[in-house]
Amino acid sequence: MNQKDNSFDRQGSMDALFCTVGKNKNAKFYLFPELCKGCGLCIVKCPVHTLVWSHHLGIYGTPVVEPEDDGLKCTACGLCQLFCPDCAIKIEKL
Ligand code: SF4
Ligand code: SF4
Repeated sequence: MNQKDNSFDRQGSMDALFCTVGKNKNAKFYLFPELCKGCGLCIVKCPVHTLVWSHHLGIYGTPVVEPEDDGLKCTACGLCQLFCPDCAIKIEKL
């Protein structure tokens, strides 16, 4: 089931949120709300400062994160995925 909601779509049994990112839309950014505790570490670590708080809520009722501006600034470097302590982000190159 795909349900359009702002920049994010939903997919899979864990209700993963995802959107395509990059200047050429060459990657997918997945966010798993059931794993995100809203710590904000990924926001701090993103080298291009493109992660912002979302209106979607995570496991503790706090906002999850999403790439701003339709994901255009995201370089799909994968640092947010690497630093997330709860494996709540997955970057998939297309
Ligand atoms: S995605 Fe990970 S690092 Fe980012 S706010 Fe959620 S739990 Fe923290
Ligand atoms: S993949 Fe890299 S550029 Fe994109 S949001 Fe994550 S840390 Fe930022």
